[in-house]
Amino acid sequence: MITVVGSINMDLVVETNHVPGKGETKLGTSFSTHFGGKGANQAVAIARLGKETGMIGACGTDSYGEKALKSLKQENVNTENVFLFPNETTGIATIIVSEADNRIIVVPGANNLLTSGEIERVKQQIIGSEIVVIQLEIPAETVQTVLKICKEHDVPVVLNPAPVDNFKEKFIDLATYLTPNESECISIFGENMEQSLERYPNKLIVTLGDQGARYYDGEKHIFVEGFRVEPVDTTGAGDTFNGSFAYGLAEGMGIEEAVRFANASASISVEKQGAQGGMPALGEVLLRLS
Ligand code: ATP
Repeated sequence: MITVVGSINMDLVVETNHVPGKGETKLGTSFSTHFGGKGANQAVAIARLGKETGMIGACGTDSYGEKALKSLKQENVNTENVFLFPNETTGIATIIVSEADNRIIVVPGANNLLTSGEIERVKQQIIGSEIVVIQLEIPAETVQTVLKICKEHDVPVVLNPAPVDNFKEKFIDLATYLTPNESECISIFGENMEQSLERYPNKLIVTLGDQGARYYDGEKHIFVEGFRVEPVDTTGAGDTFNGSFAYGLAEGMGIEEAVRFANASASISVEKQGAQGGMPALGEVLLRLS
């Protein structure tokens, strides 16, 4: 079983031709809701591949929380250890999409109530996992507790350091794998990527968008090329990569093979709309790899 510890959000997407200025009201052109949160997205990516997946997270008891949990269950994600907080809202991201840019406001809500206390209560699930996947949309102290439990019990853990503002230096030694994108890598380790990769062989895996991903194996730099596709929506590419990379490792692949598998999987996800919309089943990934 793979356990994902992380955020569960509802994305509220407003499309508009005119972004309001101060004091203005404008008409939008469409409104839609999508299941999101990096934690939930990564759990869905793994479950779609057919692997037993457990989620540790937190929701409110509002309608968004109910819908998010129902959707996770429909995706075959075990939600037994998702905590429900009646006096808190489920996390939301309000996304204003206009021609000029995307503007996003995240209200973490219940995600912020996933504390070390909750983690202690579900420690057995973490210890019993083949691999744990975690991101930074929950409190940093909670992340540290999970990383420590994993280290103590020799459970490999993939830390996707996003959003990077919540990254703490002490996470580096505790994590087995760190999977920043290029800009997150520079923000954590500085401009010299070669040097950063050489400092953390077989640990630091940097994703490079359509170029794929790279890491250092202790002797040489390994570039694992991406798959050339016509992207429709790259939202969730990173989440698909992380979930699929963890899947590959849990299935016994080496790092290079797992990264190639994750590149293939993420390349399929960008061909469809939405973060979870394009996440592939195992057969589709194997077809792309063949
Ligand atoms: P996002 O924030 O868009 O979810 P990210 O910034 O976390 O993604 P990226 O490095 O952009 O991470 O992408 C993650 C992985 O997704 C890449 O390593 C690659 O395998 C795949 N990928 C992303 N964009 C493309 C693309 N245009 N074509 C093919 N594969 C892609």
